[in-house]
Amino acid sequence: MDILNTEIQFLPGVGPKRAALLAKELGIITYNDMLHTFPFRYVDRTNIQNIAEIVPTMAYVQIKGTVTAKNIVGEHRKSRLVVTVRDNTGSMELVFFQAIKWMNDKIRIGDEYIIFGKPSAFNGIINMVHPELESPSGKALPYGSSLIGVYPSTEKLKKAGITNKVFTKLMASLLSIAGNRIQENIPDYLISRCGLIPRKEALKSIHFPSGQAALEKASRRLKFEELFFLQLSLLKQRYVRMHEGEGIRMPAVGADFNRCYKALPFDLTGAQKRVIREIRDDMKSGRQMNRLLQGDVGSGKTLVALMSALIAIGNGFQACIMAPTEVLAQQHFNNLKKYLAPLSPVDWTETEADGGFGIALLTGSSKAKQRRMIDRGLRDGMIKLIVGTHALIEDNVVFRSLGLAVIDEQHRFGVDQRSRLWNKTGGGTPPHILVMTATPIPRTLAMTLYGDLEVSVIDELPPGRKPVKTIHATETKRAAMYNFIREQIALGRQVFIVYPLIFESEKMDYANLEKGYEAVTEAFPFPKYRTAIVHGKQSNEEKSSNMKAFADGRADILVATSVIEVGVDVPNATVMVIESAERFGLSQLHQLRGRVGRGSQNSYCILMTDFKISRESKKRIDLMCSTEDGFILAEEDMKMRGPGDIEGTMQSGMPVDLKIASLGRDGSLLEFARKTAREVLSTDPHLEMESNSLLLRSLASYREVPTDYSKIS
Ligand code: ADP
Ligand code: MG
Repeated sequence: MDILNTEIQFLPGVGPKRAALLAKELGIITYNDMLHTFPFRYVDRTNIQNIAEIVPTMAYVQIKGTVTAKNIVGEHRKSRLVVTVRDNTGSMELVFFQAIKWMNDKIRIGDEYIIFGKPSAFNGIINMVHPELESPSGKALPYGSSLIGVYPSTEKLKKAGITNKVFTKLMASLLSIAGNRIQENIPDYLISRCGLIPRKEALKSIHFPSGQAALEKASRRLKFEELFFLQLSLLKQRYVRMHEGEGIRMPAVGADFNRCYKALPFDLTGAQKRVIREIRDDMKSGRQMNRLLQGDVGSGKTLVALMSALIAIGNGFQACIMAPTEVLAQQHFNNLKKYLAPLSPVDWTETEADGGFGIALLTGSSKAKQRRMIDRGLRDGMIKLIVGTHALIEDNVVFRSLGLAVIDEQHRFGVDQRSRLWNKTGGGTPPHILVMTATPIPRTLAMTLYGDLEVSVIDELPPGRKPVKTIHATETKRAAMYNFIREQIALGRQVFIVYPLIFESEKMDYANLEKGYEAVTEAFPFPKYRTAIVHGKQSNEEKSSNMKAFADGRADILVATSVIEVGVDVPNATVMVIESAERFGLSQLHQLRGRVGRGSQNSYCILMTDFKISRESKKRIDLMCSTEDGFILAEEDMKMRGPGDIEGTMQSGMPVDLKIASLGRDGSLLEFARKTAREVLSTDPHLEMESNSLLLRSLASYREVPTDYSKIS
């Protein structure tokens, strides 16, 4: 048996009780799991901080101090040990609530210690709760390491005595027992081609780095490994599909496509043309298309969907377009009808016909009679194009020859649903699939989440849309800002003023909103100015009537929280003022800004912030002022916050369990890993060659690695 599969309870110093805790708190079941529990930060053992410089917002710090006093204070169950330590710069308190007697015996007044812990503040005084103490002459770390790894931990672990120091000791003993049994999982030729260090060395170094350089090499190797196997697995699936996954061959463009194309009231943008070409190449290739189309709101995805559908139809097949809601399906249907006018389409939702270009809308609220007609039209192939909701994937919907399925707003459709569409062709060749989304997904994330999809991007808006001028201002500019609003209103324009509403401090936020509303009505008095207010605590009627007043032009200013409904469309609104803009995330700011710039007038977004804001906030504000590109903003947002939020809103059907690599920070390593995986597969798609036999085995075992890494930041 592989020693690394040994249960963790058998590691000296662990035992059944601690093992149960390690399993529950950190998901560590075997030696191997433990080995793959990585420090999330390191403290330089040679880096000793001055006590005077410590502030409670610091992460883990290390000080060197002499004990000047110690006292047990409080009543028995609430008692604690308070130890005062001093260095040349000042003194601070160490507080222990547990193992008080033992600590009290161990710590001696007059002795010097290296103290490691997280500073906090109590009644304005800085202290450290349950720090780790070591005498300066204490044993050196294993492998001559000068960096101390800080491991993920929980209150329960600490209470059970598994402090960082204990965990580190266990790790050292694990490495001495099993370290030499760590197997390589990447063949030599790739190790040298990619400039990696051996796995054994990496796993030792990540826990006990001899220095910064060694740590970086170890972390690069382990990150690469993680990203590489992920990409290898995704690309291998895709490779198989592309080269063996048969798709319907659609060699022609067809007359319908050409007639509609010529009748379009505008030219397609370069990006639209490029994407249509990419789709057309897929469709005529004889392989099944699985493509993700990304484009900001308003970039013209609907037309791309339609032109793709017309290609399928021109080759004698049917097409369907699926939207996430009835309203959107209806909207698509109405729009498509306009573009299809040159073909004089027959709407099967209203009438049946034996010839012509049949179209239909199918939703949950389609009438029984309509359903019957649609059913017939789909079965005999008279309906060429159908738009609908989830109703389209119900089993009783049967096509004669479905050639293309377009899915709008992917994140609401899982992989499951995609595969149900495949089956709409009665076991024949599956239809081509085009998935569209307006959520800008950073490239690195898309590559990871949709490694099995090709990605097309519409990165250009139709001409004539004016950029929104974005300005950062602080309180001293408020009067000027108000004057600017007065000018805009005098020109007949309307203004949004948005206040943050963040759940945790709801009360305070409402207070701010109310105060803000008062200030606005004072600066813009009725009846010269008409102000409406919309927020989440209003009833639905109140909300929509106030919203409508603004939309109809009966209010000049709309004061609102960030909960104003998405998709509010008031082309006459030209100014978006965002108060306390430093409290919003980039994506949210981008969404809010998107509410203006819809008409033909010049539009403005004014980001109001405190005079003093954090560096991070400043960076976000500056970015907003410098670009309107949703992709750049999404990418930066992910770098700053990590991808969690974006992932959370997508049911990708593709879990991303990264332990050490970060999609935000390791984008270029991800690309490198992907390129390497592609190179390997291009010569050996099934990993059958002798030189890749190790990869094949590793790939199989990599997927079995337990995957609860949620505790590791
Ligand atoms: P999306 O679905 O990507 O948000 P739509 O397809 O709804 O965007 O297009 C938004 C608007 O832009 C529609 O009114 C559409 O008619 C228009 N439009 C699309 N492509 C172009 C183009 N190339 N030139 C001008 N207007 C366009
Ligand atoms: Mg759309």
